[in-house]
Amino acid sequence: MAINEQQYKAIKKKLNNYKATLVAVSKTKPTADIEALYALGQRDFGENYVQELTEKQAQLPADIRWHFIGHLQTNKVKYIAPFVHLIHCVDDVKLLKEINKQAIKSNKIIDCLLQVHIAQEETKFGLSDEELAAIVQEIILTDSTLQNIRVKGLMGMASNTEDKSKIRAEFNHLKSLFDKYKSLSSSNFQLIILSMGMSSDYEIALEEGSTMVRIGSLLFGARDYNEVD
Ligand SMILES: *Cc1c(COP(=O)(O)O)cnc(C)c1O
Repeated sequence: MAINEQQYKAIKKKLNNYKATLVAVSKTKPTADIEALYALGQRDFGENYVQELTEKQAQLPADIRWHFIGHLQTNKVKYIAPFVHLIHCVDDVKLLKEINKQAIKSNKIIDCLLQVHIAQEETKFGLSDEELAAIVQEIILTDSTLQNIRVKGLMGMASNTEDKSKIRAEFNHLKSLFDKYKSLSSSNFQLIILSMGMSSDYEIALEEGSTMVRIGSLLFGARDYNEVD
C-alpha cells in the first residue's frame, strides 16, 4: 500500500530535465497514498472515475490540482466542473459544449485537452486525425460561443506493446499533430500542453516531446481493481 518514494524522486528528477509536469495517477488508490505523495510536495493528481474523484476531492487538501484523465460522460461533467484543474479526454464537441455550460455555472474557465487516438488498438478512445482537424476548426470558428473553455493541448495513449519503436512512432505522430495545430490560436484555443506517457512508456514520451506525463503504478504500485470500495 505504501508509495514508492525513491521512484517518485527519480521520476521528478528526470522530468526536471525536460521541464515536464508529473500527474500522479491515483485511481483505485486510497486517500492515504495521495496524502503521502502530497507530503513530498506532489500537487497534480489524476483520476479516471467521476464518483471516486469527487469523494477524494472532498476529503483532501484544497490546493491539489485534479486532472480528469478517463472517459467523461456528458451528464457527469457537472460533478467535477466546480473544482477540476484540467480535463484530458475531450473527444467531441458535445462534451466541450457541456463543459462550457458547466464552467459558466461555476463562474470559471475550464482547461481541456483534446484526446487523439494514436494507438493501433480499437479499444482506446480519442479522435482520428480527420476528426481532430474538424473539431479544431469548429472550436476556432465558435470561439465567441465557447468562452468558458480553453483548449490547451493534446493527449494520447500509445499501444500497449513491448515494441518500443511502435510506441515511439505513435508519440512522434502525436507530437507532429501538436506542432501542426500549435500555430493556430484563438481566444479559447492555444496548444501548450502535450500529455503523453505512462509508467511503461514515459521515458520514450519525454524523448518525443511530452510536456506532461501521467504515471500511476510506478508511484503507487500495481492496481487491484477489486480493491475499490
Ligand atoms: C491509468 C492511466 C494512467 C496511468 O497508468 P500507469 O500505467 O499506472 O502509469 C495514465 N493515463 C491514463 C489515461 C490512465 O487511464
